[in-house]
Amino acid sequence: MPVARAELSTTLRTAQHSGIREIMHLAQSVPDAIRLEVGQPDYRTPTHIVEAAKKALDDGWHGYTPTAGLSSLRERIGDKLLRVNGIDVGHDQVVCATGGAGVIAAGVMSLCNPGDEVLLPDPCWPNYILLLATASARPLRYPCPPHLGFLPDLDKLEGLITPRTRVLVINSPNNPTGRVYPVDVLRQLGDIAERHGLWIVSDDCYDQILFDGQLVAPGMRAHSDPERVVSCFTFSKTYAMTGWRLGYAVGAPQVVDTMIKAIEGTTSSPSTVAQKAAEVALDGPQDCVAEMVAGYRRRRDLVVDLLREAGLLLTVPEGAFYILADVSPTGMDSYAFAVQLLRERGVAVAPGSAFGGVAGDAVRISLASSDQDLREGVGRLCELVGLLQ
Ligand code: PMP
Repeated sequence: MPVARAELSTTLRTAQHSGIREIMHLAQSVPDAIRLEVGQPDYRTPTHIVEAAKKALDDGWHGYTPTAGLSSLRERIGDKLLRVNGIDVGHDQVVCATGGAGVIAAGVMSLCNPGDEVLLPDPCWPNYILLLATASARPLRYPCPPHLGFLPDLDKLEGLITPRTRVLVINSPNNPTGRVYPVDVLRQLGDIAERHGLWIVSDDCYDQILFDGQLVAPGMRAHSDPERVVSCFTFSKTYAMTGWRLGYAVGAPQVVDTMIKAIEGTTSSPSTVAQKAAEVALDGPQDCVAEMVAGYRRRRDLVVDLLREAGLLLTVPEGAFYILADVSPTGMDSYAFAVQLLRERGVAVAPGSAFGGVAGDAVRISLASSDQDLREGVGRLCELVGLLQ
């Protein structure tokens, strides 16, 4: 009898690890490296949230929760969505999962069949690509080029759509560009989705990280048919809770019901202790959010000045906590530049090529790092570009 050969999933085996992780691993072997490559807030989770988690454990919150999350949390999320985002839905339209990553994954899995196409921005967060590999869906990259201020080229986007295209992913405030999409762009994206019968997965994970006086980014739901939109949020960024792994989404009831099955089939339910802490994050004072955003804004201004002075500024971020630096004067590929910057100057940044072709001449700097590291690290980056050009 022939022996059955164990084979790996073709889509996952052939998919690339994120180019950010490669630099992260290299950086681990460089002593005292300045780490500007990962979107990891250097702030700690506010104390009252940490205390709430300790209390929840003491009070015996050790078991599973309903797959969609505790109803007490979903109710509070419903209140937040109304108060902050102007989204008025019942808590049966809210679903929680393991991080923003978890709700985005459940959304895409619920909306796609194998072989379907999903429109992704270029540049975009590299994890979307791996997610599509798990869903056996195919990425179609729509350009958001520097000459349009990194906003989507809507004609090119529409030109990519085929009968297999099912989902349009948008991300504003954007990782890696920091752009916040204006309302007219959201409306036009909504019109395209409507014309072609597409679902929209709106990654709003940075909804409250905004630099120019707005309290919240304009959301896709208000500017398109809300029935088509799955809006995804997270506690990771707003409350510096990346390690707690809790996100939430809002969608039409039948979409949410399908997403619950995707979550049931993958992770069963989100972390109970994180949910209890998140309730207190939503109930408690919000000045911790304003303070962290003010810190990111100060660092944005600091890095904008340094890059502008060196002639390497591509765009002034309006939200999220990243900024792109132009390394095209070196003529190098961004990955090779990032490796050289790390090896010779001890500074880790994310190569633009990790986010797609459009940012291939740039590197991404995370503003979620200390002022001192940013001043020193960006200074060394500018110096190296100057030497290599
Ligand atoms: N979307 C974007 C654009 C991100 O940058 C991230 C985190 N880097 C996430 C979603 C997911 O964050 P989390 O899973 O920690 O909530």
